[in-house]
Amino acid sequence: MHETLTSVRRLYVLLVGYEVLPKSISTKGRGRRFMMSEPICCYLLDTNTGWVLLDAGFDPVYVRDPNLCQEYFHSVGIYPPIVTREDELPFQMLKLGISFRDVGKVVLSHLHLDHVGYLKYFEHATVYIQREEHEYGFSSAKPGSYFLADYNSPKIQWQLKEGDWELQPGVTLLKTRGHTPGHQSAVIELPSSRVCVLPFDAGDLQENFDEEILPGECVDDDAALASIRRLNGIVTERQATMLLFHDPMAIQRIKLAPEYYD
Ligand SMILES: [Zn+2]
Repeated sequence: MHETLTSVRRLYVLLVGYEVLPKSISTKGRGRRFMMSEPICCYLLDTNTGWVLLDAGFDPVYVRDPNLCQEYFHSVGIYPPIVTREDELPFQMLKLGISFRDVGKVVLSHLHLDHVGYLKYFEHATVYIQREEHEYGFSSAKPGSYFLADYNSPKIQWQLKEGDWELQPGVTLLKTRGHTPGHQSAVIELPSSRVCVLPFDAGDLQENFDEEILPGECVDDDAALASIRRLNGIVTERQATMLLFHDPMAIQRIKLAPEYYD
């Protein structure tokens, strides 16, 4: 059943910055006293039909520009993320010999500020997201973790999806509601037949999956637990590798671009 040929040639993990936050943001009811420095990632797929970007990182303009940093972080009591020159997405893509223009498809897990920062530079691409997440991101219900300015350009070419779906052979998206209304996670099949699970914010840390601890921010606790269990089930069933987006320990063992998984 899993023997279809994948369109994916390589999976790159790009570390694009760090967030500084209380651990309870990642683990509901746990670790409020402890500050974490959690990586922010993007994933790039080299496929036989072109480059695919999974999530769009955090735009360092918010920390480079003192007025924006004041408005979006200091004035609301949130620590600004850390983005070194080496973390900047265009710089890392250049090392792979590509630019924003080379990416034809962008898939978003959800619309939180650390997942959509560079989206405004991908107006030439098709952007795939769950319909429910898109609606929530443009509604008045959304909290401060949504930076509307990152995704409200009328030039963005949205493709709205509902439930589980396949982008192309070897790239499957699963609706993993809970952290946000329309959160989705990815399952990537590589040429080696290795399967990678990308949970995004369905669980930030290994602890979320090992102990079934919910993300600190959830719109639906029951759904968030079901999402964690579903992703754990895929890891077991398919002997998959889980690549955690925000885990400060896991990131040290993950192969970072220009290294890749194939
Ligand atoms: Zn999030």
